[in-house]
Amino acid sequence: MKRHHLGLAAALVALLALAWLWPEGDEPPAGAPTATEPTASEAPATPGEDAGEAGTTAPGGEATGGTEQSASASATPEATTGAPSSAPPSPPAAAAYDGPLGTRNHTGTDAIALTFDDGPSPEWTPKVLEMLRERGIKATFCVIGAYAEAYPEIVADIVREGHTLCNHSWFHEFDLGTRGDAEIRANLQRTNDAISKAAPGATVAYFRHPGGQWTDRAIGVAADMGMESLHWAVDPSDWDNATTEAQIRDRVMDRTEPGGIVLLHDGASNQQDMCGALTTILDEFERRGYTYVAL
Ligand SMILES: [Zn+2]
Repeated sequence: MKRHHLGLAAALVALLALAWLWPEGDEPPAGAPTATEPTASEAPATPGEDAGEAGTTAPGGEATGGTEQSASASATPEATTGAPSSAPPSPPAAAAYDGPLGTRNHTGTDAIALTFDDGPSPEWTPKVLEMLRERGIKATFCVIGAYAEAYPEIVADIVREGHTLCNHSWFHEFDLGTRGDAEIRANLQRTNDAISKAAPGATVAYFRHPGGQWTDRAIGVAADMGMESLHWAVDPSDWDNATTEAQIRDRVMDRTEPGGIVLLHDGASNQQDMCGALTTILDEFERRGYTYVAL
């Protein structure tokens, strides 16, 4: 019996580990789906290859995709005049939707939003939750359905501690948005079902496409299901093994402006560095007087 359980657990962990090392996919949309899909399922065993792949795509895609939009959104006057205190659920200004294809990349107030993708991870999500708890910060967790199913107790913890949930697809399918409506819907529904099973009654009001590779179709299906499409303003590439703790820290601190939505990862490949950087980042944000909104 015990051995049987251990065998099952080992198989599950091995399966999940296969998808653990993908890059967050801030790759340029063109060509990425076919390039990354096989890699995500076959190559994660070779960290070097993963880092190399990320390295070739990161310079063009991720920094510009996130931060330029961040700058323009944050510089918009009305975006900085919102109440700095924790936001009531009022509709954000139009400037909050300067992400790709009109996705949301700004909170609509001065409060910033921390978002954590690719979990839940039994190793890292509890650490992130603890850091947030100690400071009374509420954040948003973009969870992967297969992991929500594997670690339901962590999803329940996220909800119990007052954080917001976001659907990040069933298994981080980078090309999800290129598939048919029915397949997209089934994928997102399966994820929401796993979340509901883990945390009955929990609301999933947001969807974040894997890798930020948005399509109008995916956005439309998500909207149909009552989920707003959530992009980001700041991406420090903490999904990339080649990114150091100092780089994550500096990029987030340099690029985050009031109202910005910050992309971080409690699952993927580089959480040790992310967690290391997070303490310093939160200290600095406290000095700046930032408040947080869980969206
Ligand atoms: Zn992701």
